[in-house]
Amino acid sequence: DNNFFKDKKVLVTGAGKGIGRATVRRLCQLGAHVVAVSRTQSDLDSLRDEFSGSVTSVCVDLADWTATRERLSEAAKGVHCLVNNAGVALLEPFMDVTEEHFDRSFGVNVKSVLNVSQIVAADMIARKEGGSIVNISSQASQRALAEHATYCSTKGALDMLSKVMALELGKHKIRVNCVNPTVVMTAMGRLGWSDPDKAGPMLSRIPIGRFAEEQDVVEAILFLLSDSAAMVHACILPVDGGFLAT
Ligand code: NDP
Repeated sequence: DNNFFKDKKVLVTGAGKGIGRATVRRLCQLGAHVVAVSRTQSDLDSLRDEFSGSVTSVCVDLADWTATRERLSEAAKGVHCLVNNAGVALLEPFMDVTEEHFDRSFGVNVKSVLNVSQIVAADMIARKEGGSIVNISSQASQRALAEHATYCSTKGALDMLSKVMALELGKHKIRVNCVNPTVVMTAMGRLGWSDPDKAGPMLSRIPIGRFAEEQDVVEAILFLLSDSAAMVHACILPVDGGFLAT
């Protein structure tokens, strides 16, 4: 139901690039007002230039708990839908994983989702109107991938965080779901999968035979956010061309 988004307020994290940016673009086309949260000011400036009037931006490093609370306290008021999309992939062999990379990854991919969701859900609960939250996880939450020890762990944690959020927030009419894409050739996707020696074996495990496009992921996000998914709650929705079935 694309009319659903007209005049809705939607907060999208990691809005500067990739899947987040494509989500903001589609939401603006559908008449939503978007609060775009990201880390690089120039990305947010160009978003505002593209969609003047429809986008409010907040520049913050979401790994910083306190700064996030300060910057979002006003912007998060009146939000109907939240997309927790910001994420990092710091790839290395298991034996080379550093404490810094591990903490950074959990700080962005898991802790910030808890933090932003608390901020947004507190206001949703106070308004008693409900709402919906979509967390961008990954096929990596459910399959071991070489050099992804940290990343796979963060996404596994995110799937379970999402389920407990769903369990506790359902009574407030707040739905919570995950979208779990396969590789998408964004900046992050290129980092892990540009090498044909890595891409080939991955592609051979995807029955549809291709990686996902940003738009494939955006459509799943919009479905789960909207009332079309009114009874879909605590779900892990793969957008993976069948990878997780193999
Ligand atoms: P990109 O790297 O292309 O974009 C990520 C966006 O998030 C950037 O705008 C980035 O800003 C922002 N961001 C990252 N860290 C922070 C932070 N600490 N604070 C605020 N903003 C931040 O990634 P994708 O679009 O590919 O990924 C989006 C989501 O999809 C992620 O959660 C990722 O794990 C998931 N995903 C991606 C897949 C892929 O193959 N691409 C596959 C499956 C899931 P900046 O550049 O300024 O740091």
